[in-house]
Amino acid sequence: MSYPQVSATGRGDVPASPRFPEVEEAVLAYWESDDTFRASVEQRESGPGGSNEFVFYDGPPFANGLPHYGHLLTGYVKDLVPRYQTMRGRRVERRFGWDTHGLPAELEAMRLNGIKTTDEILELGIEKFNEACRASVMKYTGEWREYVTRQARWVDFDNDYRTMNADYMESVIWAFKQLHDKGWVYEGFRVLPYCWNDETPLSNHELRMDEGTYRNRQDPAVTVGVRLTSGEHEGALALVWTTTPWTLPSNLAVMVGEDIDYVVVEKDGSRYVLAEARLGAYERELGEAEVVARTTGAALAGSTYDPPFSYYRGHENAFRVVTAEFVTTTDGTGLVHTAGAFGEDDKVVTDREGIEAVMPVGKDGRFTAPVAEYAGMQVFDANAHIIDDLKAGTGSVTPGTVLLRRETYDHSYPHCWRCREPLIYKGVSSWFVEVTAFKARMAELNQQINWVPEHVKDGQFGKWVENARDWSITRNRFWGSPVPVWRSDDEAYPRLDVYGSFAELERDFGDLPRDRDGNPDLHRPFVDELTRPNPDDPTGRSTMRRVTDVLDVWFDSGSMSFAQVHHPFENEDWFEGHFPADFIVEYMAQTRGWFYTLHILATGVFDRPAFENCISHGIVLGSDGEKMSKSLRNYPDVSEVFDRDGADAMRWFLMSSPILRGGNLVVTEQGIRDGVRQVLIPLWNSWYFFALYANAAGHEATPTTASSDPMDRYLLAKTREYVEATTAQLDAYAVADACDSTRGFLDVLSNWYIRRSRERFWATGSQGGQVDEAAFGTLATVLDVLCRTTAPLLPLVSEEVWRGLTGGRSVHLADWPDAEELPADPALVSAMDQVRAVCSATSALRKAEQLRTRLPLSSLTVVVPDPATLEGFEPIVADEVNVRAVRLLAADSEEAASYGVAQRLTVNARAAGPRLGRDVQSAIKGSKSGDWSVAEDGTVTSGGLALVEGEYTLETVAEAAEEGTALGVLPGGGFVVLDTRVTPELAAEGLARDVVRAVQQARRAAGLDVSDRVRLVLGGSEGARAAAEAHADLVAGEVLATSYSVTAEPVDGESATLADGESVTIRLERA
Ligand SMILES: [Zn+2]
Repeated sequence: MSYPQVSATGRGDVPASPRFPEVEEAVLAYWESDDTFRASVEQRESGPGGSNEFVFYDGPPFANGLPHYGHLLTGYVKDLVPRYQTMRGRRVERRFGWDTHGLPAELEAMRLNGIKTTDEILELGIEKFNEACRASVMKYTGEWREYVTRQARWVDFDNDYRTMNADYMESVIWAFKQLHDKGWVYEGFRVLPYCWNDETPLSNHELRMDEGTYRNRQDPAVTVGVRLTSGEHEGALALVWTTTPWTLPSNLAVMVGEDIDYVVVEKDGSRYVLAEARLGAYERELGEAEVVARTTGAALAGSTYDPPFSYYRGHENAFRVVTAEFVTTTDGTGLVHTAGAFGEDDKVVTDREGIEAVMPVGKDGRFTAPVAEYAGMQVFDANAHIIDDLKAGTGSVTPGTVLLRRETYDHSYPHCWRCREPLIYKGVSSWFVEVTAFKARMAELNQQINWVPEHVKDGQFGKWVENARDWSITRNRFWGSPVPVWRSDDEAYPRLDVYGSFAELERDFGDLPRDRDGNPDLHRPFVDELTRPNPDDPTGRSTMRRVTDVLDVWFDSGSMSFAQVHHPFENEDWFEGHFPADFIVEYMAQTRGWFYTLHILATGVFDRPAFENCISHGIVLGSDGEKMSKSLRNYPDVSEVFDRDGADAMRWFLMSSPILRGGNLVVTEQGIRDGVRQVLIPLWNSWYFFALYANAAGHEATPTTASSDPMDRYLLAKTREYVEATTAQLDAYAVADACDSTRGFLDVLSNWYIRRSRERFWATGSQGGQVDEAAFGTLATVLDVLCRTTAPLLPLVSEEVWRGLTGGRSVHLADWPDAEELPADPALVSAMDQVRAVCSATSALRKAEQLRTRLPLSSLTVVVPDPATLEGFEPIVADEVNVRAVRLLAADSEEAASYGVAQRLTVNARAAGPRLGRDVQSAIKGSKSGDWSVAEDGTVTSGGLALVEGEYTLETVAEAAEEGTALGVLPGGGFVVLDTRVTPELAAEGLARDVVRAVQQARRAAGLDVSDRVRLVLGGSEGARAAAEAHADLVAGEVLATSYSVTAEPVDGESATLADGESVTIRLERA
């Protein structure tokens, strides 16, 4: 037997530095042929009533676009957590889902058919159009599958769910009916953000989803005077200001603030009314005007005026000054033009005032009758014409109306997240879910959800729920789940029926909606074809017809928790055990999207949350910190990264980053490579080391945890702590923390245990020593446990290493390691960790003092609170940092005090400021004057104020060390003092060790095997020769020289430069 026991690559050896992408491709091919994924699900029992299942809901992506980094990131989490839970023994089914309806699909179908408007869709025919939609949405499923498979995400594509399937849609209309029956669905005319280009309203949460929806835009702003026709200031011009001149033809009222102070000013015979606070802003036009009167909003209210345009002259209750609480004097004139149907607040006020909204703008955003002059013009295009008419008093401008000012105005303005055109606010008829009726319950149920990061619960999500508005769920479009409402087409005989199943439809209509092949299908136009006589109409003339709208796609995806299994029509038992989900994950903005709509529907329909744990991650940014952009090429190409560094490297980069703690992440190639260096290479090197020496010794390791060697015991106990930590972290969905633990553990394994234990593995086989079974057994145990722990984090490379080590089928079929099976030794771990800290601090000192490690130094003094814990470890420290003597000293001893080491407190004003306010100055003063202390429990008090973690840094600082020493502080208390004086004798040994290194390099260059003996002749500079002679035994022993001479004669061989300007010349041959 030799290692690897098996390899997916088919290689018989363990390469020293493999191409990870090649290893990955081989593992992926193995998984496919072995059907490992299915086995990993199947080998775990569901348990009674599904009690052993871990339920994961896949948030469905749109399938008519290619996957991007965001999907990649989410996909890794969607893989990692289920892999972990599987190893913990749970059964985790993973079904891929597709979001198939809605605008993305319709826009693509329109593009393919070369059409631009909904009228053209009707001309083409809804059936043909929807066929095109259906074809377009599954266009990239192949690419998705390849991409997801390459990233090593295990998910069932064959048994996927699609929101356009008849079963799924039946569950969707069932949910609509549930809400309707509870009285939480209503039809209303409301002002909504509206895309004139896509001819559809958007819901408010769609506006808040994407950071790109609010963008800067320049609009014309006008200040218009309308003539007051009654009241105390009759004849004066009330000045209104608007950035939507196109809404002026629909003006219905002027709003003022009840308590705002207004002035009437006179200039050139005209009087103007505006807020006193805004007078200064009109310096240019009204600078010399004289204030002739003062008034308030309350006094102005009730005055009538002539509308700026005459289209709606005589409109009932209109053209009055009314009060509204949201009027401010931050910009404009303090008088606000209102057009009822084109602003959310406007609509509230005109409703209150009994003014019926007017709507001279069509669904395409173009003017209609009676606004004759601009009919057919898109509203933004009409702005310029309207302003021209206002200026000239032409068209239908009411005589006496004045254009006081026109300007351009830069503001942040909402755009369509789909087509990027600027939105308008427009009154539309829509059906709503009355979220406001049960949002208090949503807030209560939200408290049952564990959010990662935690602040999302009462922050981004909680606040959004608290301020929830009713949800506009219908779209006057084509490709979607139908609004299941049939209505009488004669108002004289009203009737409204809501359907929640195929069976109900069949009962009333005698048949199901069917496609041309006869299959039940709830899509338009088939569902629209179901009509019947109105049972409430004795004349028999009116007909029940479906409301033609379709449902918002977010209603589809929000129904996923029950619709994916066709609840309540099928899988009743399954559903009971699988709702709510244990776990979902998407990016942060889904707090206004999918997380939100899932929660609305789960609360409204089931009075339960839809999910128990939710990771809400940040977004990935390009290497320049900006949004990723194909045209800017500001991010590494995914395929290139897969081919160069591998999918595990990418997974590690994303999973270990702040992005899973809710922060955003800049993607750089360097960051990805750092992960390879910090994790993949140490993991592989540890395995390579093990395999190399086990094979050299012809030894098959027997895993053991019984070694008595202190290094082995330390490593095993450290492994136990590592398993405990990662288990707790992954149980808490703290993925990045688990990555931190793994990185730290790999450092211990490769940079401490293996490096310091090399000789125990070397001293075997050909060199005549005994195989150190304890060392091999320990390392085999640790590698096995390590791979099982890294399996969810690095699934591909862990698989190759684990199978090579154990010969097993798959690490993903193995159980998560049990920390209890490893020995605990907290005292040893703590002591050795301190030893490592001492060595690391000392190495840092050497680096700073430019004293190379090969140069021996005379002594190191280690000052710690409890030196007894380090007794016995001095030889390890001495060897590791190359000093002759290590001295332990108690931190509270007199000698320790003589080093002048102290703690320093720094208050972080930026962190403490928000909490402490002005008191932060007292805390800072205290930290500087020494008026501060650390209590037993660690509480830091400064200037009489207790500080909390993060608001300060506490560091140990040393006074300038005494000549000939260097001083470094240890994390967690204590410090080290290194004697930096180099005697001639120490210098000579250092040189001799440089010579050893030069000879070792020469041996490798000559292609010698590590165990080959050599005959060696050394020449070179005088100092080097002297050192090589003085330390002949050391040099000869280290380089396995059977004959050894140093000569002043020229030597024919390789030269090498050593420290201190010395050099050596080496001639060697195999003995
Ligand atoms: Zn749009």
